[in-house]
Amino acid sequence: MSFFTYRDGAMHAEGVALATIAAQVGTPFYCYSTGALRAAWREFADGIRGMNARVCYAMKANSNLAVIRLFGELGAGADIVSLGEMQRALAAGIPARRIIYSGVGKKPSELMAALQAGVGQINVESSAELETLNAVAGQLGVAADITIRVNPDVDAGTHAKITTGRKENKFGIDIDLARDAYALAGRLPNLRVVGVAMHIGSQLTSLNPYRSAIARMRALIGQLRSDGHAIDRFDIGGGLGIVYADEKPPSISDFLAMAARETDGLGCELTFEPGRRLVGEAGVLVSEVILVKPGAAKTFVVVDAAMNDLIRPTLYEAWHDIVPVKERRDAATIRCDIVGPICESGDYLAQNRDLPPLAAGDLVMIRSVGAYGAVMASAYNTRPLAPEVMVDGTRFAVTRPRPSIEEMLSVERFPPWMEPTKP
Ligand SMILES: *Cc1c(COP(=O)(O)O)cnc(C)c1O
Repeated sequence: MSFFTYRDGAMHAEGVALATIAAQVGTPFYCYSTGALRAAWREFADGIRGMNARVCYAMKANSNLAVIRLFGELGAGADIVSLGEMQRALAAGIPARRIIYSGVGKKPSELMAALQAGVGQINVESSAELETLNAVAGQLGVAADITIRVNPDVDAGTHAKITTGRKENKFGIDIDLARDAYALAGRLPNLRVVGVAMHIGSQLTSLNPYRSAIARMRALIGQLRSDGHAIDRFDIGGGLGIVYADEKPPSISDFLAMAARETDGLGCELTFEPGRRLVGEAGVLVSEVILVKPGAAKTFVVVDAAMNDLIRPTLYEAWHDIVPVKERRDAATIRCDIVGPICESGDYLAQNRDLPPLAAGDLVMIRSVGAYGAVMASAYNTRPLAPEVMVDGTRFAVTRPRPSIEEMLSVERFPPWMEPTKP
């Protein structure tokens, strides 16, 4: 079921016309469908029923407080990668015990704050971090529940910038070195080993890399147990892909059934950390055409969203479907690049697209931007961050307003040696 469809010739998010939101909020803006978010969550919740498993939302995909709160109320924990995300998770009502702290470089001060808040699990990625965490936990007089993130050296078959499970990636501890790392963890008095973790990449469209990785981790778990470690949790990470163009990612239920099968008899509680799959298809970006510039080779459609709002096309060569908000029945199309106003040749949202002829003032909708969209936005060119809007049935609300330029400038300071500015 799609939550973004044409009704009477106008693109709607559930029961709200995107043009209505545009008129009230201005463009560009991100729009999230509560129905789509709930539906994705429901598939995970249904899929783990009867399993000893939990789902911790990888909130770096979309850390809007309202989105986190929705998942939290539905029972999600959170996978965080920074203290800022921890504070967001707590502010959105996720209990600290349900938070997992991941990341390749956690500072002592960050580990301390996480332990003080009482996060439920810290996924450690290096021997150096084991030592640091042990020292910090000792200072606080607490024991830290940890897993070690192991790099199983499998190819996730995804874009180079989002593959994480190969030897040459910076993430986790090489599977060949994992036993030594666990031996160290076992000797450190303030750490309590609770399991193993992996996360092999993002936007995976095949289950095979998961199967290979889980098989390797199973063998490791056996060795670790014979070494005397209590391995009660197996954190499988996230990474399940979504549809951008014509991908055929596995269904959530097939993914979970695969995980159940491949870990059968292991006696571990499983943790899933989906990010993209929960939010990616639930979000769109709406932008207005500023002008159309016909060129010799192709036409440039300049819109008011740019690479600072959505960097995925520039960073990952990502392909996002773009459609007019007002339904077009005309068959004629023109070959065009959809570009933003920023002075960078990399500032495009789509290249060589065949779209119905567009004119200044038309609205376009960019699909599948709910993950790694708004969270990766910047204010480059002093362009205010695009607001985020949540739709639920026939209602909508702005969950992060567009800052005014005055607000943006007000956080900056002149050094005291500069003369005061003249009015
Ligand atoms: C980014 C990340 C995830 C989520 O990845 P998706 O591809 O968005 O599902 C899960 N776990 C860890 C440790 C991550 O870094």
